[in-house]
Amino acid sequence: MTKAEQITKIHSFLRRMFVPGDLIEIRGLKSRKGTLRMLTDDLYLAARSASAMEKEGADVYYCLNPVDRESKYAKTAKINDGDNNCRTAGNADTANRNAYLIDIDPDRPSGEAATKEQRAAALSTAQEVHTFLAERGWPDPIVLDSGNGIHMLYKGNRCSANDDALKFALKRLATLFNGTCKIDAVVSNPARISRMPFCINKKAGRRASLVSIPNEFEEMLPYLVLRLAEEEPTYMSPFAGSSSRSSAPAKGSLVIDEEGVLDLIDEFPDQLELDRDPSYSGDATYFALSACPFKGAPHVGQAVGMGKTTIILRPNSIGFKCFSGACADHTFADLLRLLYKETGRRFSGDIWEDDLEVLDKRWGCVEDLTAGANVPDNSPFTVDDFLAMMAASGGMTILSEDKSH
Ligand SMILES: [Zn+2]
Repeated sequence: MTKAEQITKIHSFLRRMFVPGDLIEIRGLKSRKGTLRMLTDDLYLAARSASAMEKEGADVYYCLNPVDRESKYAKTAKINDGDNNCRTAGNADTANRNAYLIDIDPDRPSGEAATKEQRAAALSTAQEVHTFLAERGWPDPIVLDSGNGIHMLYKGNRCSANDDALKFALKRLATLFNGTCKIDAVVSNPARISRMPFCINKKAGRRASLVSIPNEFEEMLPYLVLRLAEEEPTYMSPFAGSSSRSSAPAKGSLVIDEEGVLDLIDEFPDQLELDRDPSYSGDATYFALSACPFKGAPHVGQAVGMGKTTIILRPNSIGFKCFSGACADHTFADLLRLLYKETGRRFSGDIWEDDLEVLDKRWGCVEDLTAGANVPDNSPFTVDDFLAMMAASGGMTILSEDKSH
């Protein structure tokens, strides 16, 4: 392969993987000059850099997910200009979930190149995993030969990369499919790097290559990953149960109703604005917001197949859900704290029925507010709730076959 061919192929791969404008990171490890890094929004420059890094003797990788331009890292790093032995992107610098990686390697002593038979076994395991996931509604992945094993790349829908679902989904796959080959369960972190195809894998003594690329590289909705993660017994869904920060059991019962939530939204017009009329599913009422109060604006890409920032009211619970990485941990109590902090006012209506002394203790001063209030949080939030919420907020349509598993 000539250098021009290599650059063309890498460029075309990156164009399938990323969206124009993405800030992506190419990394060359163990080069003669140490670690090389190119942070760029120019995919052709990225491809040329990858080729140049290989020439410097590096194993070449790229971050699976784009870097957040708003991160301090991106604001202080050199962009579109190579850098050596500098800081590289971390989990907190990641913009969104662009790709999910399933990494299948022959089980062999570390440092050894895989044999031809071992590589064939990895491909055969990948085919089994592909069939299993396709039956569950996963779209087709890009399949790469990493030099020693197989990479399956599923296209993300640009939701938050900052959750545990992928980690446990990979554990689940490892439980089901590990044998002569192993599924790497630790490749789920947001800033994960992956081997660049068409570049040399020094350990294997071969180039990574493309095995197959689907005609339609379709986005995968995050609930498919969540559903698989929930089958792993050790997985604690962040949507289940109450927040770990509300340690004491909740006192008082919820008295706010739909009118009350609308009043709450009306009372804080600078922070809360309804995106559309409330919608209903099961016993829940969904109040989709046009912007995230924590960000003070809509999240980028929020409308792309994702649930909106939403207040969810149920008969005896009220919750706040925002499907952005920055907001993944925010609860309804955090929302109340934010409103108080930004306006110095508390909601005039009642949310919980409680005696005044407890209320005063709970909401009487800023110290109490920031120390973590004893507030009932979201009720258990299941995959079906997630589907219902996305449908209710206009983010997606529930197909009957989606619920048949
Ligand atoms: Zn948010």
